[in-house]
Amino acid sequence: MKLATFTHGGKTRIGKVVGDDIVDLAAADPSLPTEMIAFLKAGDAAMAAAEKASGSEIPLAEVTLEAPIMKPGKVMAIGLNYGDHVKESGLDTPENQIWFTKSPTGCVGEGADVLKPAVSDMVDWEAELVMVIGKRARNVPRERTHEIVAGYCCGNDISVRDWQFHSPQFTIGKSFDTHGPIGPWITTSDEVGDPHDLDIKCLVNGEVKQCSNTKHLIFDCFDQLAELTQVMTLEPGDIIFSGTPGGVGIAMQPPQFMKIGDEVTIEISKLGSITNTLVAEDTTTVIE
Ligand code: ZN
Repeated sequence: MKLATFTHGGKTRIGKVVGDDIVDLAAADPSLPTEMIAFLKAGDAAMAAAEKASGSEIPLAEVTLEAPIMKPGKVMAIGLNYGDHVKESGLDTPENQIWFTKSPTGCVGEGADVLKPAVSDMVDWEAELVMVIGKRARNVPRERTHEIVAGYCCGNDISVRDWQFHSPQFTIGKSFDTHGPIGPWITTSDEVGDPHDLDIKCLVNGEVKQCSNTKHLIFDCFDQLAELTQVMTLEPGDIIFSGTPGGVGIAMQPPQFMKIGDEVTIEISKLGSITNTLVAEDTTTVIE
């Protein structure tokens, strides 16, 4: 099943993508919530009801897709988790998982603008397989971690390299608003099957920059969830970026960064693709 958050007629809600249409879930079955985290919290019963839901279809072409999770509680991301990316970074294979956070205000969806910060010209791409947590989970042994993943989507761990490296940890350079596009929807775990055999690509203006497969993850998805749940309670709607393969802009000779107007696409087999365009940010002060 493909679960999306979408806006149509000025109203944002969730739906199930079927072919070229989207089934408005709460319209098809009024027992279902209109928001994705509430839906995930409603558990297996809501998932089963969504499988059955039919009618209330809207053509996909008429809706705006949003980030499938618009306001995640947590966005965790792992660094240096593909061998070719470790090598291009001039580093040794990490012995431990290297975790940082991204700001939840980074989450935008398919087609959304990504902001070029006024304070940097070093905006880089990172294609990543993203896990969406479906259960409240703590101390989960590796062999049971698959139970806590609701599904997967494409993600772009956009990185502002000068800010990333002018601090001893990555978080600030990874947390600019709009710098965590995810989508186009959540493809549920049962439909994905093995998450460690998916082709993953990044294209900028149609040119392939990264091309790999999730079988090359150093710490795989299940290693990551076992480690994280030893530390913190994961909750429905939490988002985990699983690492990026080689081919990031900063490692190129000479380095390449995104320019205003550039279109960046992340494509993963079975999950679809997301394309976002870099636009100049508005630096107006906001206090509300
Ligand atoms: Zn990353």
